[in-house]
Amino acid sequence: MPQLSSRITTLNEGGSDGWEVFYRARALVAAGEPVTELTIGEHDIGTDPSILQAIHKAARGGHTGYAMVPGVSSLRQAVASRISARTGVPTTPDNVLITPGGQAALFAAHMAVLTPGDAALYIDPYYATYPGTIRAASGRAVPVPTRADDAFLPRGEAIQATARETNAKSLLVNTPNNPTGMIYPRDTLEDIALACTDNDLWLISDEVYDTQVWQGQHVSPRSLPGMVDRTLIVGSMSKSHAMTGSRAGWLVGPTEAIDRLIDLATATTYGVPGYIQDGALFALEQGAELEQQIAEPFRRRRDLALSVIEGQTTVKAIPAQGAMYLMLDIRATGLSGRDFAEDLLDDHRIAVMPGESFGKSAAGHVRVALTVADDRLTEALQTLCAYAETKARAHA
Ligand code: PMP
Repeated sequence: MPQLSSRITTLNEGGSDGWEVFYRARALVAAGEPVTELTIGEHDIGTDPSILQAIHKAARGGHTGYAMVPGVSSLRQAVASRISARTGVPTTPDNVLITPGGQAALFAAHMAVLTPGDAALYIDPYYATYPGTIRAASGRAVPVPTRADDAFLPRGEAIQATARETNAKSLLVNTPNNPTGMIYPRDTLEDIALACTDNDLWLISDEVYDTQVWQGQHVSPRSLPGMVDRTLIVGSMSKSHAMTGSRAGWLVGPTEAIDRLIDLATATTYGVPGYIQDGALFALEQGAELEQQIAEPFRRRRDLALSVIEGQTTVKAIPAQGAMYLMLDIRATGLSGRDFAEDLLDDHRIAVMPGESFGKSAAGHVRVALTVADDRLTEALQTLCAYAETKARAHA
């Protein structure tokens, strides 16, 4: 076999992509073992039947040919209206590119702003695909560390210093955040905006959890002064409408950037299936009520999970304000997140993600996805806490 490109062979640094526990849990499930999977951000409900009906109707109605590459006009309009209404920033369909999910939007955004070799910053801990996505776009992936004591919120000085040292071209942020569940407060976002304007950075703002807000308010950094011309918003139907498998998302940004991104889409994805876009349009037309209905179980489970954590002292929680996750500090056990997660899967058939899968800053933590029924989640967390206590006592 001829050599593969350095781009593709170095996507996952060190040969590990941090998903071993997840794959091992899936293998156990496939072998018929009962595993409580608290790993990936997948709803425990499927896509709403009314949305499936709209997809079916569109496909049967003939929307199965090539769709417009930038997206169906009515969907681009619906996304533009939604963004205008939610952020107060006037947005037109020309500011919108429909993409096959948020992941494709993340890749396209980096392709749009990075010249090969440019440094691209992202906040650590991070959604696990980020560094690979930047490398896929031939960028140099540079994490900006945060501290558990700051609830993993980034500090302006750290971003500024890293941007200067690396002559960075872009910064990727995510609020509400996966894996921490934090929502960036306005002053953090103002520091981020300042770092972008001071260092002439593009801001890639991943807002795929914008309907999952339990505490405080989601502020889109595109709405801050000076940011509209340097921000690309990544959005998706995956989390807001339980449509993970449909692959429907978008990028919102300056029209000049969107025009070039349409060239990229023509050369890569060639658009998103028309019947999926019609389903997405139908889903958006249902308004906030459906979004709230889909988000509600995570709010409830977050409260349940925090009450289990409050009942003991070994495991500490980052008090999630949004998204479908809870980050737990298990450092009192003396174990790494990875060892803790491996042992918990071996001994109790509970699968959680090691904090280390999301970056160095989350070492000694595990991420719990709030994606199983309430009673099962409560029981799993009680077991996890008791297990941590046993480990901590042995460690002391
Ligand atoms: N960003 C974040 C922070 C995510 O957690 C995910 C999915 N887990 C995505 C982007 C991508 O989602 P999708 O491609 O399904 O839209």
